[in-house]
Amino acid sequence: MVKYPSKRAEYQRQYRQENLERIRKREQTYYQKNIEKILAYKRKNYKRTLEIGTNWRKNNPEKVKAAQKRYRQTHQEALQKKEKERVKKNPEKTWARKAIQHKKELGFSVLFTTQELTALALLHQPCRYCGKKLDYSPFKGRVIDVTPSLDRINNNTGILTLNDIQIICYKCNLKKSDQTHSEFLEYCKNVIQRCGPQ
Ligand SMILES: [Zn+2]
Repeated sequence: MVKYPSKRAEYQRQYRQENLERIRKREQTYYQKNIEKILAYKRKNYKRTLEIGTNWRKNNPEKVKAAQKRYRQTHQEALQKKEKERVKKNPEKTWARKAIQHKKELGFSVLFTTQELTALALLHQPCRYCGKKLDYSPFKGRVIDVTPSLDRINNNTGILTLNDIQIICYKCNLKKSDQTHSEFLEYCKNVIQRCGPQ
């Protein structure tokens, strides 16, 4: 029986620290010798192990946050490089993720996924109003006229569905502002009637 569990744990920790290399070597040899057995065990208990991990993360949100923060700090450069590669490989997906995030920050309920919006972006349709080709590549975070932007066609609710959105150019969206599609067309007609060629 263990009389002083805390002291025992402390002793074990110390022992491990002092003999780290020897222990590691022993573990490595054991692993190499029994690799088939270990892999079979892992395969068999795959679901249970996942569950234990999920439960632990659920019960220790603070520790998870701290670990994530530590990871981000120690792997800053690698993470930035990875993000750059991801953007380069799939600019439409990055755009979709950011566009949804932006709408959510503005308080909208978004009823479609990044994947669904990416699929829409990948059709590469030109802007509905001016007909210009949209450019999904990020200009170091800058917005240009043909930067795609997510427009609510009828602007009347706080809920965004796939049926009520369209991807148009930033310039047109700026002009359409919070008008509905038909209000915007009406506005354009007025301008043409007043100023168009006679
Ligand atoms: Zn446009």
